Amino acid sequence: MVQVNADYLKLKAGYLFPEISRRIKEFSFKYPDSDLIRLGIGDVTEPLPMACREAMKVAIEEMGTAEGFRGYGPEQGYSWLRESICLNDYLSRGCKISADEIFISDGSKCDSSNILDILGKENKIAVTDPVYPVYVDTNVMTGRTGEVNESGEYQGLTYIPIHSENGFEAEIPKEKFDLIYLCFPNNPTGAVATREQLASWVDYAKKYNSLILFDAAYEAFIQDESIPHSIYEIEGAKDCAIEFRSFSKNAGFTGIRCAFTVIPKTLKGKAGNKEVDLWSLWNRRQSTKFNGVNYIVQRGAEAVYSEQGQAQIKRLISFYMDNAQIIKSNLTSAGFEVFGAINAPYAWIKTPENMSSWDFFDFLLKKANVVGTPGSGFGAAGEGYFRLSAFNSRENVEKAMERIVKL
Ligand SMILES: *Cc1c(COP(=O)(O)O)cnc(C)c1O
Repeated sequence: MVQVNADYLKLKAGYLFPEISRRIKEFSFKYPDSDLIRLGIGDVTEPLPMACREAMKVAIEEMGTAEGFRGYGPEQGYSWLRESICLNDYLSRGCKISADEIFISDGSKCDSSNILDILGKENKIAVTDPVYPVYVDTNVMTGRTGEVNESGEYQGLTYIPIHSENGFEAEIPKEKFDLIYLCFPNNPTGAVATREQLASWVDYAKKYNSLILFDAAYEAFIQDESIPHSIYEIEGAKDCAIEFRSFSKNAGFTGIRCAFTVIPKTLKGKAGNKEVDLWSLWNRRQSTKFNGVNYIVQRGAEAVYSEQGQAQIKRLISFYMDNAQIIKSNLTSAGFEVFGAINAPYAWIKTPENMSSWDFFDFLLKKANVVGTPGSGFGAAGEGYFRLSAFNSRENVEKAMERIVKL
């Protein structure tokens, strides 16, 4: 019989979203007429911006002509998209990133997982807690951890807690880690990192020769102008950080699939005593295992940077951020302690009366027919918190708030 990758068996069995589905199903079976509102899922709900649709239509027609047809594209992405990203997302913010340091992909979820392909197994790894589960699970799947304990922590990973007592700031570690995952604006807490905080992380990484994996999937939701959108806004970050960006949340591409990863050419790692640059390894990895994102979708992504595209995604983001504001103000006036929801589309709520995250889930489901996400599903330090997402229709958000406020 074939051997399987036994590391998969270490994964925690009752994963968050299947367990949520199970409880919803059970509830709907008991109360088939209940009108459930789902504020649990981190997926966008508004339609695709017109500029992107128009660009993709043109691209499809091009593909139907002899001159416009394209087969395999560059594995790194088309240069016009890389140039446009470089100009609009980096040079415009003073980050000296070049277009060939930008790799187009079909998602940040895959990139933040696949990056482990080019990194050794001996690295000491730190993640924040709560955390986007992908970072943890992909380390488990690739044999970089030991077994899981009762509270869902894996041996071999270090968890840096972020909670209200430390103002949702991940404290800079005293010891050396080789690899650190950071996500700001944060999913699930909605917290952001100030310029000073990011600068401390960059100082730390440079001091210890660590690599920061910086996930900026929610940068477009930042409202406060003093908050950096990219880690490369910090001097020195080009020597110690990889950045993941995605069109999923800013332009509604969760179903279309397009993202990018920045690997500065100055980033170094080592193989034994030999210095190796990470850009070359990632380029090799992508060229071997990936054949690029399709032409049509890349044209759609390019249109995000057009004048119309920019205006349309700005409206999308304000729409979601107005939802976030409605959630925050209603819950705050109802006496809840609410974090996030200012520079991120997630409200992170302290459960009332020290209820556990799952008890609060059941409570909201039964009493308000509202579905959210238990904080403990994102890590041990998420216990006692609950995530509500601003990705929904205005009507649903208002109805959900009315019901919760009445409780
Ligand atoms: C939604 C999300 C992403 C984007 O993932 P894609 O694969 O590009 O859709 C990345 N990181 C976090 C933390 C997210 O919540």
